[in-house]
Amino acid sequence: MRLTIYRKMVMGFGLIILVMILVNGAILLQLNALSSTVRSVLSSDVRALDGAKQLRTLLYDEERHAQKFLVSGDTLYLRLFVDAAAQFERQLHTVQILSAALRNYPPTAAISRTHIRLYHSLQNQRRSYGRSTDSPSLTREAVRDTLELIHAHLDMLIASIRGAMGRSIVELEASSDRALQIAVVLTIISVVGTAIVALAITHTITRPLRVLREGTRQVARGEFRRIAIKSRDEIASLADAFNEMSRELKHSHDLRAEMMQQIAHEIRIPLQSIHSAYYLLTQQIRGPINERQRELLDTIRKNTERIADFSNQFLDLARIEAGMMEFDLQPIDLPSLVKSVLENIQVSASEKKISTELTMETVPTVDADPVRLSQVFANLLSNALKFTDEGGTITVMVQPGHHAARVAVRDTGAGIHPDDLPHVFSKFYQAKGVRPRGTKGSGLGLALVKAIIEHHGGTVSVESVPGEGSTFTVELPEAVDKKTVAGKDQS
Ligand code: ADP
Repeated sequence: MRLTIYRKMVMGFGLIILVMILVNGAILLQLNALSSTVRSVLSSDVRALDGAKQLRTLLYDEERHAQKFLVSGDTLYLRLFVDAAAQFERQLHTVQILSAALRNYPPTAAISRTHIRLYHSLQNQRRSYGRSTDSPSLTREAVRDTLELIHAHLDMLIASIRGAMGRSIVELEASSDRALQIAVVLTIISVVGTAIVALAITHTITRPLRVLREGTRQVARGEFRRIAIKSRDEIASLADAFNEMSRELKHSHDLRAEMMQQIAHEIRIPLQSIHSAYYLLTQQIRGPINERQRELLDTIRKNTERIADFSNQFLDLARIEAGMMEFDLQPIDLPSLVKSVLENIQVSASEKKISTELTMETVPTVDADPVRLSQVFANLLSNALKFTDEGGTITVMVQPGHHAARVAVRDTGAGIHPDDLPHVFSKFYQAKGVRPRGTKGSGLGLALVKAIIEHHGGTVSVESVPGEGSTFTVELPEAVDKKTVAGKDQS
């Protein structure tokens, strides 16, 4: 069966509901047992105790009637005694039925026997009243003593009912404790069980989603890898569609990279021929040239150099994007590298009357390709030169950073408008209206900088205030084989 998210949810929640029903059912059973114990105590034992207490009153009535009969010989009292005794017997029977503890209770038989004996004695006494010669044989003391015997039995009976009640209450406490424990244990089990089921469901849904998110990020970074999702639900279908898309993207990406390389190659070959022709003409090997022709040839040279620069950057970018660029990583002494690149632009800077500053702190060694890293700083410095007016300053700072080593290139040039800032590292992006006259660009320089730095595991960022200048910051990770390179402060 295909376990879709819908089915997983239905099964999971069904399981949770089932656990809840079972737990609640078990708790209800416990409560029911508890309430029946309470009911038995309240409805039987308490009523039995009340009944037993009423027996005492009846016994007093019996005694009063018997005594009056003995004194007066009036048979009305004898009848009253018989009624009270009969009521006593009935009440005793009810009490016995109510309290389980009194069933087969031996003293009740003795009470009945005593009653019968007393009744017969009183009957005899009545007959003796008929014969005036006979003196009364049953004394009032004898009646009291007989009834005292029943009183004593009654006390034992009440004590037994109280004992039974005490035992019921102890039992009640024990079963309420048991019910509480069972309820707590079942609640804990149900909470843990529910949490496990909920976590399992969430995990089976979120895990493939995380894989999918990571896959999306990889595609955004230009890594077109297949993602593997084991589940067979809707997310697995999404993953299949994602892999399909990723395959298509890789295909078109490869085609584009191949095409870019082809174009760059096609541009280079004619450029080399133009350059050779330029060389032959300027060296006047094929005949003399005049000043005007020399100027025209110079224009040709500048433009071919521009096209060559463009095609080189274009080709480098295409190679990096296609993963075909070879990086010769080695431990780099960053301060020395930055210093030598800065020296290369000194002549151009002086021509433009731009001063340069270099400050260096101790930084860890970084693993980098020296040629590519020089290209990065050359690009940043050439931009700084390009966008800074005469009399401005370019400051290069080498210092420890978040990653490991940081190089910041700051200029006091035109700056970049906040709307342009997020796009300057995009291919072919050029901010409008700030390009100084006489300078031309391709919009590829910063894209190349970013690609090279990211390939080294580093980051590049920019901060800028229009009219005040820009700061480009490169951060590179520390070399695996750690070492620190001490830089001397310079100006
Ligand atoms: P370009 O060949 O146009 O210089 P880049 O990729 O090097 O291409 O730069 C992209 C854009 O970023 C430039 O066109 C410019 O608008 C802006 N930019 C780059 N560096 C600076 C800077 N130091 N000061 C002002 N703007 C800059």
